[in-house]
Amino acid sequence: MTTLNDFFHTAHSGSWAVGHFNISELDQFRAVADVCKELGSPAMIGLSEGERNHIGMRAAMALRNALREEYGIPIFLNADHTHSVDAAKEAIDAGFDSIHIDLSKMDMDENIAGTETVVAYARKQSHDISVEGEVGYLVTDSSKVYARHIAVPPESLTDPKSAQRFVERTGVDRLAPAVGSLHGIAANTPQLDIGRIKEIRAIIPDHVALVLHGGSGVRDEDITLAIRTGINNVHVSTELRVAYTHALQQSIEDDPDEVAMYKLDEAAMEAMRVVVREKLHLFGAVSRI
Ligand SMILES: [Zn+2]
Repeated sequence: MTTLNDFFHTAHSGSWAVGHFNISELDQFRAVADVCKELGSPAMIGLSEGERNHIGMRAAMALRNALREEYGIPIFLNADHTHSVDAAKEAIDAGFDSIHIDLSKMDMDENIAGTETVVAYARKQSHDISVEGEVGYLVTDSSKVYARHIAVPPESLTDPKSAQRFVERTGVDRLAPAVGSLHGIAANTPQLDIGRIKEIRAIIPDHVALVLHGGSGVRDEDITLAIRTGINNVHVSTELRVAYTHALQQSIEDDPDEVAMYKLDEAAMEAMRVVVREKLHLFGAVSRI
């Protein structure tokens, strides 16, 4: 089977990006898988600590296995934004395909030491597990649509030299740098620092994938440019949450007598499919499996 790291390598040489979509419900999982099957894209499903506690780690694994069989496409689970070594080990033990160990709020040496431990633990289990580390940090939360303007503090952005040191020391498969995007959606459109992406890409090895978090609310042209500059993986969460939740609210409002959830969430699933379809086209991820 083609591994997730294989897809990143193909994406890097072909200048496209693997889409990463967060879910917390089965119907959302299906909405992503429906579109990935329709378009021939690998499905990378993100589950933050909160999302995987909600769905259940073992249940998430069982769903991955069942949907792989049902859809006949590569489906990978990523333990997104895992904030401790123990939580990362737990996801590796459960069988996740990918771990994002995010110790970016710690100082650099602690971040390196913790990430290194997770890489070693993952390699012991299987060389197919893809591990992502993070240097620099995003200042906001993916569960929010902010009514205010949010500035990106310069000290939160990734210094290319630190990124290089981090990658060399930890041996990660993917690096998430902070390059101007935000988690969540702000009143202002975030500006990607393309120059910084270019510098980081030039200084880290080709086999290390570059990940853009906070893909929601970024201009399409910026995403295209970022991918051309060397981003191989784009995370989308808030735009999916907005599409899903707003459609669900509308269904409930339109038919207040309806209480069958599977009927109410059909419009929400469709709203999510529209966003996933749009993003996969934007990322150049169509017909890649
Ligand atoms: Zn993120």
